[in-house]
Amino acid sequence: MKRDELIFDIIEKEHQRQLKGMELIASENFVSDQVMQAMGSCMTNKYAEGYPGHRYYGGCEIVDQSEQIAIDRLKKIFDAEWVNVQPHSGAQANAAVFLAVLNPGDKFMGLNLDQGGHLSHGSAVNTSGIIYAPCAYNLDRETGRVDYDEMEAIALREKPKMIIGGGSAYSREWDYPRMRDIADKVGAIFLVDMAHPAGLIAAGLLNNPLKYAHIVTSTTHKTLRGPRGGVILIGKDFENPWGKKTKKGQIRTMSQLLDSAVFPGIQGGPLEHVIAAKAVAFGEILQPEFKEYAAQVKKNAAVLAQALMKLGYKIVSDGTDNHSMLVDLRTKFPELDGKTAENALVAADITVNKNMVPYDTRSAFKTSGIRLGTPAITTRGAKEELMVEIAALIDEVLSHVNDEKTIVKVRTHVNEVMKNYPIFAY
Ligand SMILES: *Cc1c(COP(=O)(O)O)cnc(C)c1O
Repeated sequence: MKRDELIFDIIEKEHQRQLKGMELIASENFVSDQVMQAMGSCMTNKYAEGYPGHRYYGGCEIVDQSEQIAIDRLKKIFDAEWVNVQPHSGAQANAAVFLAVLNPGDKFMGLNLDQGGHLSHGSAVNTSGIIYAPCAYNLDRETGRVDYDEMEAIALREKPKMIIGGGSAYSREWDYPRMRDIADKVGAIFLVDMAHPAGLIAAGLLNNPLKYAHIVTSTTHKTLRGPRGGVILIGKDFENPWGKKTKKGQIRTMSQLLDSAVFPGIQGGPLEHVIAAKAVAFGEILQPEFKEYAAQVKKNAAVLAQALMKLGYKIVSDGTDNHSMLVDLRTKFPELDGKTAENALVAADITVNKNMVPYDTRSAFKTSGIRLGTPAITTRGAKEELMVEIAALIDEVLSHVNDEKTIVKVRTHVNEVMKNYPIFAY
């Protein structure tokens, strides 16, 4: 067959874009060559509906092995009793939990989407908000941290059946014991979505939510540095509290309900090539080098936040405990919106995303903030000195968003600097 040069040229352009730029999108990372190799392998050809040892297709003996290794490694990383590695994405992992735990119309609680929550935690345009009934908790206006007292008051009033911790733009550690206490008070399932900080948790740099939450979900492609995908984990399996019975009259455990919710509930055949790549990435996480990487991610984020604050920027909650931070642009540049800032920085090959800040005065389309993160650039070998330089470059661009000359000058410099920070061989 003739090689599809049209598409491979486009892939090469994307490769060059990734090589030349400073990648600061908090949810992105660069996977290793062996993770990519597993993803681009013949495992994509195999249908394997079901789970290892219990499949609906023949010829699954080999993919059973890689899926079982992915399961065993993930259990070891987070000290989990049970995991499911089949969700195609983080949003799918959450959708499966909703299906397993809630009935349509049931109330649940998550962090307000305008304040760092995620689409799959109750957005009106997502299944979570269409099928179920969300009520949100908020951040404290002064501290920029989750207001747990308000969370408790709302929970006692609304009696949600599930409470979700975790978000997409929250840079602080979560008070998991307090949240479990609130969940227990109202008889709710406590779900933690650790999609963002999972890699730092894996390295022991942040608290492990599996000790407190009934159920934990994650993506595998953010700080975990694996292929694009999702996982579900349980620290200790438990009986389904709503007592749904099987046809034979047995009460199903939560792990059984979750397995059924992923397949056949919301998905068909698992992506065995991606699951093999998840296994490879989990193997990398179990190496000592990953701990060093995660520690550097955290150090770099702290230094970047400090450097930006020194330049007069407001960081929501005045710092970070993890890999990410939210810059409230209004303090330094009242006229500058997140969309304009994102466009100017992207033009200078500094890739960031606009983001609403808590109690934002602008729309989700414009926003007053940008979100920054260090997982990707740290994979390329960046240390603290580069963080200080990045803060200065960001400041230079944001001080001259309409000046093409400055943007070109910064971009040339960025491209030059990034030559010293290789990505994996490909
Ligand atoms: C990124 C993210 C997800 C969703 O991941 P996708 O793989 O894009 O579906 C879910 N929850 C949180 C908190 C996230 O940050």
